Amino acid sequence: MTELTYPYALPPLPYAYDALEPYIDAETMHYHHDKHFQTYVNNLNAALKPYPYLQTKTLAQLLRSPQALPRAAATAILHNGGGAYNHNLFFNGLAPASAEKHAPAGRLEQQINRDFKSFDNFKTAFNAQAGAVFGSGWTALAQNLRGTLQIVSFPNQDTLITKGLRVLLLVDVWEHAYYLKYKNARADYLTAIWNVLKLSEDCAH
Ligand code: MN
Repeated sequence: MTELTYPYALPPLPYAYDALEPYIDAETMHYHHDKHFQTYVNNLNAALKPYPYLQTKTLAQLLRSPQALPRAAATAILHNGGGAYNHNLFFNGLAPASAEKHAPAGRLEQQINRDFKSFDNFKTAFNAQAGAVFGSGWTALAQNLRGTLQIVSFPNQDTLITKGLRVLLLVDVWEHAYYLKYKNARADYLTAIWNVLKLSEDCAH
């Protein structure tokens, strides 16, 4: 949806709601996709409604140039556009445990070994960072302009689109992503999610 324009529609989940069980439960997926993601999409459309000249821009273009947004609507567009953008990446970055590789291969495996020594080291570092996010936010594996991989956390519905970083993996650490099943145990959610995170060579979105 990031290359689409207004009015935005909620992208359907690319798998069944219960397809990520037992790691992510169907009830969480319904609330997360149908309520939270849908609300960001609805609010983004509402924020853009008075601005025909913004309606021809793609979501990526809107987020890439925040200074070009009208002052009265910038916060609403960035919060809700960021929410739509991040959730689109997040849901597309997951796959049923049986359907995809969930260990890195090919170039991604080489890069992870180069920049983190091993996949296990990388996972440990990633979960430590994601576990340390204070409040609501996200943790990503991202690639900078020189090709180096780095683990980056960011708050709320910010994005990495203006930071020169390409997201390869994205994990939602807002409480709504895990609270129904894991309650306060974010670490258990972070351990489980590696079973359903897409890590094939083309995981780059
Ligand atoms: Mn979320």
